[in-house]
Amino acid sequence: MERSPVIRFAYGEQIPIELHKVRMVQKLHLKPIDERLEAVKAAGYNSFLMSTRDIFLDMLTDSGTNAMSDQQVSSMLRADDAYAGSQSFDRAKQAVQDVFNTKYFLPVHQGRAAEHILAQAFIKQGHIVPMNYHFTTTKAHFELPGGVIDEIFTDEGLKIKSTCPFKGNIDLAKLKGLIKKHGAEKIPFIRMEASTNLIGGQPFSVANMRQVRKVCDKHGIMMVLDASLIGENAYFVKQREAAFKKKSIAEILHAICDLADLIYFSSRKVSSTRGGGICTNQKKLYDKLKDLVILYEGFLTYGGMSVREIEAMAIGLRETQDETVIGQSPSFIKYLVETLDKAGVPVVTPPGGLGCHVDARGFLPHVPQTEYPAGALIAAFYMASGVRGMERGTISSVRDDTGKDVLADVELMRLAMPRRVFTLSQVKYVADRLQWLYKNRKLIGGLTFEYEPTVLRFFLGRLVPTSDWPQKLAAKFKKDFGESL
Ligand SMILES: *Cc1c(COP(=O)(O)O)cnc(C)c1O
Repeated sequence: MERSPVIRFAYGEQIPIELHKVRMVQKLHLKPIDERLEAVKAAGYNSFLMSTRDIFLDMLTDSGTNAMSDQQVSSMLRADDAYAGSQSFDRAKQAVQDVFNTKYFLPVHQGRAAEHILAQAFIKQGHIVPMNYHFTTTKAHFELPGGVIDEIFTDEGLKIKSTCPFKGNIDLAKLKGLIKKHGAEKIPFIRMEASTNLIGGQPFSVANMRQVRKVCDKHGIMMVLDASLIGENAYFVKQREAAFKKKSIAEILHAICDLADLIYFSSRKVSSTRGGGICTNQKKLYDKLKDLVILYEGFLTYGGMSVREIEAMAIGLRETQDETVIGQSPSFIKYLVETLDKAGVPVVTPPGGLGCHVDARGFLPHVPQTEYPAGALIAAFYMASGVRGMERGTISSVRDDTGKDVLADVELMRLAMPRRVFTLSQVKYVADRLQWLYKNRKLIGGLTFEYEPTVLRFFLGRLVPTSDWPQKLAAKFKKDFGESL
């Protein structure tokens, strides 16, 4: 069996290694510090408003930014153009069956489309949907028909520093309490998200999911699995859950999927393509959903996807059974997180499967939450490195009725690790520039809104620094690195 992509050098450290070769490349731009200062200012100090023209390493997200394999790209050539009955769909259906162990498959155009269909089919006004943690699109879609999200993560879930291997677990006592309080009839389903995205790509254990399943069975509640990040979850189960050490990833994927009544996924993540899907072994569920898929997504053999995307998705799903493929990102993330942790830079531990999450409150204790430390850190880190991260803090939150910021539970800079996109020397560069920034953290100040949209302000909002700290930071950078970038 092929092993995970970590090797031990005979002389020196243990490092993650790229078990693929690069056969098509895209030129990157590492602009000088003065141009970076201008670019971040022109973008209103909001990383969503930057152009990749000005970015060296884009660590905003792993959504739709992963590298495809040669097998995936070549599969697109044999795609079978047909509105109905395309053989591309047959191949995708077979891949879904082999990987997730489910007979029925409904394609949709991306993950949130699956959430929309589930919300339409199952959620009514006053329903409660318990879950380990929400994802932005999940919450929005489940609340539209009047549902309420109840997050029942364990106490370890939101801790910055932790050694808990499964921060994505559901707290069973909270789950039982919730069922007792509301009654099972108010709960259309329990949702478990693999590698909980918003709390750092942290997995759940199979043991925990089995216990949740038992509770579901006792009360006749349906169990839904969001498998968008299931590859990493399966990888961590193999690494961290003793009972699965000797199992193959394919077996672990089945062990997880067999516990769910219904599975949905975003292919933008799990198979490095576009699209998504819903799958189940229960014909009753399939029949309930298929009309909605036709109505909102398209005919049952394409569901809003192109046949080329369907072919690439089928191969991408099969590749999640390969430990050397799904282990690539987590092994790089582990390297980055451990390097930073050793250097004293405050990062979320243990390493997750999505990216490296830097604790902005620990990094910038002198910047109050009302001046957006996570947003300021992202702007400062872009200046220091040309690397783009994403804010997961108070800027991504909202204001209350009195106009005050609702302060976020955690202030994080997320540095996502798109699958098979970066090399180790690039990851080392990220670690180095972040350590430099940490040494110079006192130079970083806060931000304030100049233009603030009323909904989803983090996407289009524009900010300005509360002092001339960006100039001071740039001056220090030039002093330390000279003309070097
Ligand atoms: C990205 C994501 C979604 C939504 O998928 P899209 O393809 O972006 O619509 C849902 N759940 C999780 C866990 C995700 O990471």
